[in-house]
Amino acid sequence: MSFEQFSLDSRLVKGVEGMGYEDPTPIQEQAIPVVMEDRDVLGIAQTGTGKTAAFVLPILQRLTRGPRRRVRALIISPTRELAEQTHQAIGLLGKHTQVRSVTVYGGVGKGPQIQRLRDGAEIVVACPGRLLDLHGDGYVDLTHVEVLVLDEADRMCDMGFLPDIRRILKLVPRQRQTLFFSATMPQEIRQLADSILEKPITVQIGEIAPAKTVTHVLYPIERHLKKALLLAMLDRMAIGRTLVFTRTKHRAKNLARALSKQGHRAAALQGNMSQNQRQRALDGFRDGKHDILVATDVAARGIDVDHISHVINFDMPDTADAYTHRIGRTGRAEETGVAFTFTEKDDENLVRQVEELLGHRIPLRYVEGFDYTVAAPGTQAAHNRRPSSGRGVAHHGNGKRNRARRGGSKRNNSS
Ligand code: AMP
Repeated sequence: MSFEQFSLDSRLVKGVEGMGYEDPTPIQEQAIPVVMEDRDVLGIAQTGTGKTAAFVLPILQRLTRGPRRRVRALIISPTRELAEQTHQAIGLLGKHTQVRSVTVYGGVGKGPQIQRLRDGAEIVVACPGRLLDLHGDGYVDLTHVEVLVLDEADRMCDMGFLPDIRRILKLVPRQRQTLFFSATMPQEIRQLADSILEKPITVQIGEIAPAKTVTHVLYPIERHLKKALLLAMLDRMAIGRTLVFTRTKHRAKNLARALSKQGHRAAALQGNMSQNQRQRALDGFRDGKHDILVATDVAARGIDVDHISHVINFDMPDTADAYTHRIGRTGRAEETGVAFTFTEKDDENLVRQVEELLGHRIPLRYVEGFDYTVAAPGTQAAHNRRPSSGRGVAHHGNGKRNRARRGGSKRNNSS
């Protein structure tokens, strides 16, 4: 699919060419047509997926027609960096249009922002606090807003902006288009989305890595917390069709059962099942009846299911080769995939072997807000830190980001 199929204004096509974009990214492919139809959109996507252009292009398309010099689109960002980035994307994609945008955020003088608002702009890209401030002083009129974008809504919530957002919602017309983007969907965000979107179309994109590659990530965790961690991740991340690997048949059966109990569409695939049962599980996974298949290595041999977005190594495999076999299930033929591996302290050697095989280090991640300190049943909560990585580097948790350094590079992200 190319950008031409969106029937964008020729000035915008020139802008897209100027950026060097050849083909739309998956989120652009899905979102641009529905945004152009004036529908509300719930976009579950992270930065890096091309989500900015997915909402900026249709907004610019709308604003190339109709009244000028009044605020017709409002984009709310959690941070000034994101606001600047979005503003720049508008400037570049809209270079050949007359549409103007301004940024509004705190920590800098109000004067220049007020001046730019006075000069007339059709798009305001703002952080909540300063926007309310300038609105309170009468410098910005939001009564003509036609499109409202909430970008990185989960981050805004984390940063305590929810009350401000509710205030802003009262300042914009009820009759409007709303585009809501979030990388994760915890309950609070889901409720906010439900309360402000009208019959939204959901577009959901997992992490996008460069074409044909698989993104590998390690999640250090103690064994007794693995199930809770998986549930927390399923709750928070945009995870599509997922294959989960366990070391034993019992663990596969029990985990699939536990996931189903929590409302996930999961099935097991393990050697104690009859051929019929296995076939049913596989068919269900292939047809989309199940999103999650929990399998052992042996049972998963020869599985041929397309569009597996995530492989999760709930238990580390026995050998590095087995790791590559498992991961070979995702990221097939032009697709991108993600491989998450839960690592325990004892997995250190194997992690090293896998890294050698891949030819690069695998980044570590911790799930923000997850309680890593819960003790194993029958033991006392002896420590107040996140678990070690399984590669012999201790990571002392402080509730914020952990950094493990080797070779001087940043090795860790939170998600
Ligand atoms: P975003 O997720 O919007 O922050 O975009 C991530 C990066 O991808 C930015 O550097 C964009 O300029 C770039 N990008 C967005 N859309 C495309 C596309 N269709 N082709 C190539 N790069 C893109």
